[in-house]
Amino acid sequence: MSTIQFQSLARDVEIGANSYLLSFGDTRVLVDAGMHPKKEGGEALPDFGGIDFGSLDAAVLSHAHLDHSGAMPIIQRSQPEMPVFTSEATAALADALLHNSVNVMTSKREELGRTDYPLFSHREVGRAARAWAARKPGRPFPIGPGDDLECTFYEAGHVLGATGAKFERGARTVFYTGDVHFEDQTIVRGADFPEGGVDVLIVECTRGDSPRPPGYSRWAEGERLAAAIEGCLSAGGSVMIPLFAMGKTQETLTLLYELQRARRLRPLPFHIGGLSVKMTGIYDRFADRVRRNHRGMRLLRTDGLLATPGRRGEMPELGGGKVFALSSGMMSERTMSNRVARRFIHNPKNLVAVVGYADPASPLARVLGSARGEEVELDARHDPVRRDCSVERFDFSGHAPREQLVDYVEKLKPEITILVHGDRPAVEWMAGEIAAQVPETEVVIPEPGVPVEIG
Ligand SMILES: [Zn+2]
Ligand SMILES: [Zn+2]
Repeated sequence: MSTIQFQSLARDVEIGANSYLLSFGDTRVLVDAGMHPKKEGGEALPDFGGIDFGSLDAAVLSHAHLDHSGAMPIIQRSQPEMPVFTSEATAALADALLHNSVNVMTSKREELGRTDYPLFSHREVGRAARAWAARKPGRPFPIGPGDDLECTFYEAGHVLGATGAKFERGARTVFYTGDVHFEDQTIVRGADFPEGGVDVLIVECTRGDSPRPPGYSRWAEGERLAAAIEGCLSAGGSVMIPLFAMGKTQETLTLLYELQRARRLRPLPFHIGGLSVKMTGIYDRFADRVRRNHRGMRLLRTDGLLATPGRRGEMPELGGGKVFALSSGMMSERTMSNRVARRFIHNPKNLVAVVGYADPASPLARVLGSARGEEVELDARHDPVRRDCSVERFDFSGHAPREQLVDYVEKLKPEITILVHGDRPAVEWMAGEIAAQVPETEVVIPEPGVPVEIG
């Protein structure tokens, strides 16, 4: 049989524009097509340079996050016949995120003077989404023009709809984890992955350079968050939790709801807005259509849980005794969490509770890195703001801790393990640890653009 090859189309060894090409002989399958969250224009895209018009047979979209989906409309433009297989929930979430991405690029066109923006239009998102075909986990389906290649999805935890993809041709099996979490979050259940029979494992490494604190538990971390919120509210302050609109928002709101029910937190509504309302509506739509915790629970319809603005983009009224659960998760410029922060962090009674990732270049990272009383630049178009509020950090990651990723490699003992979706130090820690613990596997850190023979 002809060979199987793997090629990273990312521009670097990093978490950026994730995209991979799997070639099973003449059958070429694209796995994810992301956009780099920190780069602009063509630099933010995977390197699709070597892909000819109409030369791809199919694509798989693992989940909706833009670092996996953000360039899908662009590659689909040059591959008009290519079906894109994904889960039903991912299709709904990615469609909404891609339309929002068009809006963000359109506003950057003016502000950054980028004439190449938007890189795709609302119409193109619509056209791309029509080529997406939903597949259910655990049910093999043929992929590509022949009948020799089969794909099966497996639930990956991480966010609603996230899947890993197993490819089988003859006796050879290749499994791509996508972004994965093995443990239950508050809504999304932990991954339901193959426990054996994998020859080649392509595994994410997001948390490869940070050990999990000993004794960590999600619930204990939730109780710590509740205590911090209670302390702030009791002293007359308000709390802001900057949240990514999809996933983090719904997980955190449901955790806060659980904490209220457990009487760790007083009953009060959480203020959300904008894109978060839309993404929460999609989570609610899937409330009883997927394997999840709090089955049937709809956040937007839960009495007293949420306060939503009268119209999109409306600034919530500030003042003491409130909890704001606002996007973006990194207080990016021109978002609601940034706008509120500019009028929030000067107040010594207030608390910013950080529950997600903060890129070092983001406004949120500058808040985290500031000393009390220091001026912080939140938006270059406005004066810096003195930070006198409290800032506390909590860990509710949607990615598997590195120790569990290594355990999974050890369980599968694949012939080849390919490390993706990690910055250099993360990938290198994983490579060293896997080499030591699972000597029977060959560990590969794929260099961008260089094909690796895997079968
Ligand atoms: Zn992700
Ligand atoms: Zn990712």
